[in-house]
Amino acid sequence: MEKIKAVALISGGLDSMLAAEAVKRLGIEVHGVNFYTGFGSVDQRMRIDGEKSAASNKKLESSVRKTAIELEIPVETLDVSAEFLEMVTNPKHGYGSNVNPCIDCKILMLREAHKYMIKIGAKFLLTGEVVGQRPMSQHRNTMRHIEKEAGVAGIVLRPLSAGLLEATLAETEGYVKREDLFTISGRGRNPQLKLVGEFGIKNYPRPGNDCCFLIDQSYAVRFFDLMKHRQIKSVSMEDVVRLRLGRHFRIKETHKIIIGRNEAENDLLEKYAGEGMALIKAAVEIGPVGLIEGVFDENDTAVAASIIAGYGKGKLLPVVEFNVSAGGSEKTISVKPVDPQLYSQFIIQHHSGHGPK
Ligand code: SF4
Repeated sequence: MEKIKAVALISGGLDSMLAAEAVKRLGIEVHGVNFYTGFGSVDQRMRIDGEKSAASNKKLESSVRKTAIELEIPVETLDVSAEFLEMVTNPKHGYGSNVNPCIDCKILMLREAHKYMIKIGAKFLLTGEVVGQRPMSQHRNTMRHIEKEAGVAGIVLRPLSAGLLEATLAETEGYVKREDLFTISGRGRNPQLKLVGEFGIKNYPRPGNDCCFLIDQSYAVRFFDLMKHRQIKSVSMEDVVRLRLGRHFRIKETHKIIIGRNEAENDLLEKYAGEGMALIKAAVEIGPVGLIEGVFDENDTAVAASIIAGYGKGKLLPVVEFNVSAGGSEKTISVKPVDPQLYSQFIIQHHSGHGPK
């Protein structure tokens, strides 16, 4: 007899891994889907650090790939980055605690997963969501609303919390039994770690792995600063990358200065220097690369170069030469390095003082 198929939304976190394994153990053929949003923490770290993590110097391997290998299930990655980018600037259901549009995001993912479910002839969807774990998107009423709007009402099984929720199609059709599912709720992680042991899972992501960097507070502050200063309220994928790189200073309302913090960031700032920006790079001494974005004049460029010089190897020299490239032309300027601390009040960061270093 042909096995019943289900589609599991795999985030790369522990909960979705456990949910998929729980259903697989009941004899269901589980197919995973994962979404490329352009905002995934690992994807972005790979972009910044290359194939090596600067912190651990270990090869970064996608946690989704690890889940697929550990559970021995196929996982298809669906690219939703274009829709996602649009959604981030204007989410219908607003943001969560930072710039994370979790409700819109879940609607989008469920909708796409549903299409995939139909395509491969699967009977239901399953997620690793746990009731009450996240403030906004994992409350029962919100879950119902999300399902309705995604057109998947009644077909999403949440194996980790199913014992606390209304029966869905997987149960009513007899594909799974309630007593084989779980009653996990809240933010605690011990029940999940217990399940890891029961299931004999060896390689698993540590609990609390964030699924995307939009929940990062420092990122949110930079993002909202950019939106506030943009006439047209939209961002590009290049903006998304730049917002993750370097230190950001807003000395004047008209423009922003970004200064790389390491070699990888310097390379990326060069690569992602957009139209209308000036790229500022030391002519001789190796040091940080800077960008100015917005409306700026020669004086603003010189101030930016002085701060950049203050972070570089030539910070004790009387003057440092910089090449400034903008609008297809290049010129050399000489500036006196300044102590960047003098400009620390202009760093775009959140108020607790734990902003980007
Ligand atoms: S944290 Fe990011 S990826 Fe996760 S649900 Fe929210 S918006 Fe989506």
